[in-house]
Amino acid sequence: MQEKGNISIHTENIFPVIKKFLYSDNEIFLRELVSNAVDATQKIKRLSSLGQYTGELGDQTIDVAFDETAKTITISDNGIGMTAEEVKKYINQIAFSGATEFVEKFKEAKDANEIIGRFGLGFYSAFMVADQVEIQTLSYQEGAEPAKWVCDGSTSYEISEGSRTTRGTDIILHVNADGEEFLNKGRLQEILDKYAKFLPVPIRFGQRTTSEPDGEDEEGKPKYKSVEVDNIINNTAPAWTKAPAELKDEDYLAFYRELYPYSFDEPLFWIHLNVDYPFNLTGILYFPKLKENFEIQKNKIKLYSRQVFITDEVKDIVPEFLMLLHGVIDSPDIPLNVSRSFLQADSNVKKINTYITKKVADKLAELFKSDRKGFEEKWKDIGLFVKYGMLSDDKFAEKAADFCLLKNTEGEVYTLAEYAAKVKDIQQDKAGNVIYLYTNDAAQQDSYVTTARERGYDVLVLDSPIDSHFIGYLEQKTEKTQLKRVDADVIDKLIEKEESKKLELTEEESKKATELFEKAISRENMKVHVEALSESELPVTVTIDEFMRRMKDMAQTGGGMSFYGSMPDNYKVTVNGNHPLIKRIVAVDDEAEQAQLAKQAFDLALLSKGLLTGSDLTNFVKRSVSLIG
Ligand code: ADP
Ligand code: MG
Repeated sequence: MQEKGNISIHTENIFPVIKKFLYSDNEIFLRELVSNAVDATQKIKRLSSLGQYTGELGDQTIDVAFDETAKTITISDNGIGMTAEEVKKYINQIAFSGATEFVEKFKEAKDANEIIGRFGLGFYSAFMVADQVEIQTLSYQEGAEPAKWVCDGSTSYEISEGSRTTRGTDIILHVNADGEEFLNKGRLQEILDKYAKFLPVPIRFGQRTTSEPDGEDEEGKPKYKSVEVDNIINNTAPAWTKAPAELKDEDYLAFYRELYPYSFDEPLFWIHLNVDYPFNLTGILYFPKLKENFEIQKNKIKLYSRQVFITDEVKDIVPEFLMLLHGVIDSPDIPLNVSRSFLQADSNVKKINTYITKKVADKLAELFKSDRKGFEEKWKDIGLFVKYGMLSDDKFAEKAADFCLLKNTEGEVYTLAEYAAKVKDIQQDKAGNVIYLYTNDAAQQDSYVTTARERGYDVLVLDSPIDSHFIGYLEQKTEKTQLKRVDADVIDKLIEKEESKKLELTEEESKKATELFEKAISRENMKVHVEALSESELPVTVTIDEFMRRMKDMAQTGGGMSFYGSMPDNYKVTVNGNHPLIKRIVAVDDEAEQAQLAKQAFDLALLSKGLLTGSDLTNFVKRSVSLIG
C-alpha cells in the first residue's frame, strides 16, 4: 500500500504562511499534539465503557520524548488510532472553511490561537517547528492495518503501510531550525508544566538516545533507549475536578501550592465553582492576601478547557475586579483555541462572568454571616477587593453593601448600616447632612483625630489604595452623607453646628492677627483666615481642602482627572481668634517678640500637619530652645 496525494487546500504555500504567522506562539504545537493524544485516549476509554470496544485497554500513559541527535520529538498514545482512510479524512482534509477565507482572515488575526481555533489547524501546528511530520498509527478496529503518513510541509503527503504493532498513534516531528530550542529538556518541561500539568491522562516525559525503537518489550510495544528514567509529569485528578465534599482544607491549600509553587502566602479562603447549566464550569478561586500594589497580582487565574491549560489572560471571562483572585476555571464551553475576539462575542462568557460574580458575593455574605469575627479579621485583605468590586460592578455592590465594613480609629468595625446609625445624630450638621470623618494616616493626622475625638466624633480609617475612590462612591450611595478627612478643615467647620461662635477679637485686633500671620507664613499657597472657634481648638491649624485633595489622590491612583495631580496643594491657615494664645500674641508690645510668637504658633501647626521640614524645622528647634531658655 502506498499512495501519494495532495492535501485538499487550494493555496499552494499555505504552510509558509502558517509558519510565519504563528512563529511567536510556536510552543503551542505541543499543547495541540498532546491534547490530541489525550482525546484519542479518552475516546478509546469511552468506547470501552460503552462496550463498543472489547479489547484490552492496557496502559493509557502518553509518552512525550525527544532525541537531540536525531532531532525528533515524538508524542505517542495508546488511544483510538486511525485507519489510513481516517488519516485521509481527518488529517488531509484540513477543516478549512476555505483556504481563501483563511488567507484573507489571517491578516487581521491577532494571535495564533485565533487561526488555529477558527480553522481547525491543531495538528498542523506541528509544522511550525518541524520540516517533516510522520504519523504512525494503528486503529482499534478489528483487522485494522497500521498506517504511516508523512508530509514535509508542502501540500503533498504520502501514505504507506505503517510499523505500529499496538493500538494508538505516534506523531514524530523532525524538528527544523525554527524548532531547535525545543530539543531541550528544560524547555519542553517548561511547556508541559504550563499546558499539561493537570491533563486527565498520565503524561510521561523523557529523553531518548535514538528515535528508532530499540527492540520490543514483552507486550510487543516498541522499546526506546532512554537517557534517564522518565517521569509522569502531571496530576490527572486536580482538586477542581473533585467534589467539594471529598476535599478538606489541607487539600485546597495543597492544590494552591501546586498552582503557585513560588507563592509564600497562604490564601485566605476559597470558592469551589461547579455549574452544569446553562454552561459547564468548574474551578476553584482563591482569595489571596493582597499586597499594597495590587496591579501586579492580576493574571493569576488560569483558564482550562477539560484540564488543558489555555491561558492566564482571563480578562474577558472574569470581571475586572475578580482578577485579583487566584485559581483555576475550567470550562469545556470555552474552546481550546480561545481568542480575544471569540471571547468578546461569546454569550456564554457573559453568563460565566455573571455567575462568578454572584458566587463570590454569596461566599462573602456567607462568611460574614457565619463567622463575623473571622471575617472582620480578614477584612484588611478582603476589604480592598470588596471595595474594588463595589466600585466596578453594580450587582456585586448591591450584595456587598451588607458585608462591606468600616473601621474606626479605635479599631471598632461596623457595617455601612450600623455606622450610619451610630453617627447619625451626633455628626449631623446644621444643613441636615451627616458628616463621616476619616483619616488616611492616623499617626500623621493624630492631632486632628484627637481634636475630633475630644468633640465626641468618630473617625474612620480609610487608608487603602482604593479608598480615595471608595470615599466618593460611599458619598454618592449614602443619602445626605458627606465624607471629610479630619484635616480638611478645623473641626467646627468640618461639622458646622447651628450656634456659630462669636469672635472675641475686635475688628482691629483681627486685622492685626491676619497681618502678623501672613508675615510669619510668607508662603504663596497658604491663606490666613481668622475665625471664631472654640477655645479647645488649637490656636493655629493648617488644613487642605477636601475636594482638591481628593481629586489629587484620585489622580495619583490612576482615576479621576490627572490634571489635578499636577496642581500645587493649597492650604488654609485658620487662626483661632478665641484662643487665649492668639489674644495674647496680638496684645504683645514688642514687635520682634510678637513676630517670633506668631512664627512659633504657625510652626506648631505645620508640625502637626507633618509639613515642617528643612531649614524651617531647624529654625523652629533653635527658636524653641531660646524660648524655653
Ligand atoms: P481537532 O483536535 O480540533 O479535531 P486537529 O487538527 O488537532 O483538530 O486533529 C484533527 C483530527 O485528527 C482529530 O479530530 C482526530 O480525529 C485526528 N487525530 C489527531 N491526532 C490524533 C491521535 N493522536 N489519535 C487519533 N486521532 C487523531
Ligand atoms: Mg486537536
